[in-house]
Amino acid sequence: MTGLCCSCIHAKEMRNDRASVFLLCVLSQSDPRYPKYPRLPVLRCRGYQEQPCPKKDNSFRALIDKLNVKPGARVLVLGVNDGALLAELRGRTDDCSEGGRKKNCDVILLGVESFVDLRKIEPCRALLAPAGGLWVIYPKGQKHITEAQVMSAGLATGMVDNKVVSFSPTHTGIRFVIRKADRV
Ligand code: SF4
Repeated sequence: MTGLCCSCIHAKEMRNDRASVFLLCVLSQSDPRYPKYPRLPVLRCRGYQEQPCPKKDNSFRALIDKLNVKPGARVLVLGVNDGALLAELRGRTDDCSEGGRKKNCDVILLGVESFVDLRKIEPCRALLAPAGGLWVIYPKGQKHITEAQVMSAGLATGMVDNKVVSFSPTHTGIRFVIRKADRV
């Protein structure tokens, strides 16, 4: 699923100086009812006007595909308050929990908003399946929590990073996985 913006005449793809891709709703410039940067995927919108999708590329792939959430995957969501995303996740898998300490997870989404929150990465490692992925979702372009700090905290657990996504106009995700040599 790609969401409505993918094929909407009002959608404009933007890139910032860090090469993150996000979507601008041009309709927002003339109508305040529409958000400048819609949270994707948009599933219902009165302003939607269809046009042939200009690019069915990775930029507009559904977020849960970018996060590599497979059908039936065991998913744990911690500190990510996004109702639309949760609905998408639960449409893909029956095994999606918000909060708690479910073990053997294929995918964990961990939201962090401050440097202190980075302490939550280490406990998540024990909840991952051997080949699972821990996404650390953090604010973009902030001084109180930086990419370097997120990377450092993740690597300190013995995991390695292997993917980055633009999670939303305001947040980035870095995926950490257990090294193959450490998987049991
Ligand atoms: S009008 Fe709605 S569907 Fe179209 S780009 Fe804006 S938010 Fe997306």
